[in-house]
Formats: sequence, structure tokens, C-alpha cells
Amino acid sequence: MNTTTDTPVAVVGLGLMGQALAAAFLKAGHPTTVWNRTASKADEAVSRGAVFASTVGEALEAGSLTIICVTDHGAVRDLLDGIDGAPAGAMLVNLTSGDSTQARDTARWAGERGVDYLDGAIMAVPPAIGTADAVILLSGPRAHYEAHASTLEALGTVTHLGADPGLASLYDVAGLAMMWSVLNAWLQGTALLRTAGVDAATYAPFARQIAAGVAEWLPGYAEQIDNGAFPAEVSALETDARAMTHLIEQSEAAGVNAELPRLFKAMADRAIAAGHGGEQYPVLIEEFTKPHGG
Ligand code: NAP
Repeated sequence: MNTTTDTPVAVVGLGLMGQALAAAFLKAGHPTTVWNRTASKADEAVSRGAVFASTVGEALEAGSLTIICVTDHGAVRDLLDGIDGAPAGAMLVNLTSGDSTQARDTARWAGERGVDYLDGAIMAVPPAIGTADAVILLSGPRAHYEAHASTLEALGTVTHLGADPGLASLYDVAGLAMMWSVLNAWLQGTALLRTAGVDAATYAPFARQIAAGVAEWLPGYAEQIDNGAFPAEVSALETDARAMTHLIEQSEAAGVNAELPRLFKAMADRAIAAGHGGEQYPVLIEEFTKPHGG
């Protein structure tokens, strides 16, 4: 493993995120080569000591590790397909957001050209890059991660999730599902309480307490899912479904949007119709595992 900050690196893509990545490498002392389609966005990195590569291929050759971080995988493939004979043995870490199919396709592209590849997802905003708060998820061959972990640590808290290059994207979107679900549930409650004159700031601490309490259930519920057995230890799904009816009726009576609780109830009703009413809530995994409802 290379443990010094003398390791040369390259950053392809100098949007808001790419500039933060390049700045973190420079701050850690890495000789840094950069490339961006719009050359002027490299000015700041160059003023801090980065070298501007004239082509993406040149950037890939310059760094023993090259980060690519552009808008989407379409742009990644445009850039990579444009390289004349990618240097075999180059290490490419793709921190562009995307889905697992795109990640696996790009990993295949790299493998066919002898380029070592890790796919990644950044769970942080640019100002956090270079601090421990920047969570960076990586997936792909463990040996590639181990060879470059100390270099990548200049960017934040880096975690390797497994050999499948699609895993980082999957964790990324799974995290988004969690984030939007919690936020939407909070907004539902906030809308309800505002009808009684309770403002968002007053409700927020209570909502936070509920969210933290529910989070405590996850390990036990995960065990039920992994074991495929859902004994109703604390509550049966049909009890939850009755409470969902209260939420729908209360929302309608208060004149607030009831789409979200109706969605909860529709999924619970299908599971109950399939004979799972006496089991515990995580039995709904069977509804989530299907490609579409119904
Ligand atoms: P951005 O500021 O909009 O920058 C986009 C970058 O992609 C620019 O360097 C742009 O080049 C380049 N690009 C787009 N299409 C291209 C093409 N066809 N060929 C060559 N270069 C192309 O976006 P960003 O915030 O840096 O985000 C970059 C990636 O990081 C995205 O996948 C995003 O989801 C991810 N991310 C961002 C954040 C965040 O908070 N910003 C957080 C987590 C993850 P030009 O400068 O020439 O236009």
C-alpha cells in the first residue's frame, strides 16, 4: 500500500464537487493533475499547484489514481470512449452519481481495457470534502481499494462495501430512500399539526424523537427479514393498518394531503389480503421486493 502523500493523483471533472476533490488532494500534498471540459474551471486548482492536462488520457497517465466526477455516467462514457488506448494498469475511481447497472457497465469497460476500476458515491456536499464528515462509498475489487485507501482518505471517510461495483450506487440510492421517506413522513405530520396552529419548529423535536425511536427497531426487524419469519412480537400488521386508517381519515378531515398514508395502507392491505395480517410490520418486505404494486 502506498502510504505517502507523494502519490500523484488526477481529477477529471472540475464542477463543484471535482474542484473540492482536487483541493483536498492538493491540501494533503499530492501532486495533482486536473482536466475539465471548460478549462477555466481549473484556474483555482492550478493556482494552488495543480497541473492542467491537455486530454483526459493524459490525466489518466499522470496519476497513479484518477478520480472522475462529472454530471452523470453518460458524460463519463463520452469522456472514456474518447480516450485513445487507455493506459493499462491505470487506476480509475468513478465518483459520479449513477445507478448500479451503469456502474457495472463502466467497470466492464475498464476491465476490457486493463484499467483498474472502483465505483463510488459521495454522500456529502463539496465543503465537507477533505474532512471526516465526507462519507465516500466505494465498491469493486478489494485489492484495488487496499492499494489506494491511504490516498483516498485525503477526501474523507472512505468505506469499501464489497467486490460488486454496483454496491456503492445501491447504498447511495438506498440512503436517499431513507432520507426522503423520513422527510416526507415529517412533512405529513407537520401539515397535520399546522391545521391546529402548531408550527413546524414546535413539532420538530417530537418528530425527531419518533424517528430516532423507530431507527432503534431496525436491527431486530432486519433479523426477521433475513430469517424470513415475522412473528408479531410487539404488534401485528393488521393493528398497524387500522392506525393507518386513522391517519388517512385525520388527514382528509383536516384538509391535508392523504396520498402518502393511502400508499402505506394500500401496501399493508395487499399484504393482509395475502394472509400476513397477523405477522409483524417487516413482512411488508414482500411487497417491496415485487417490481410493482398489485
Ligand atoms: P457540476 O458542478 O454541475 O459539474 C458537472 C461537471 O461535469 C463539470 O465539470 C462539467 O464540465 C462536467 N461535464 C458534464 N457533462 C460533460 C460532458 N459531456 N463531457 C465532459 N464533462 C462534462 O456538478 P457537481 O456538483 O460537481 O457534481 C458532479 C457529480 O458529483 C454528480 O454526479 C453529482 O451527483 C455528484 N455529487 C455532487 C454533490 C454536490 O453536492 N455537488 C454531492 C454528492 C454527489 P464543464 O465544467 O465543462 O461543464
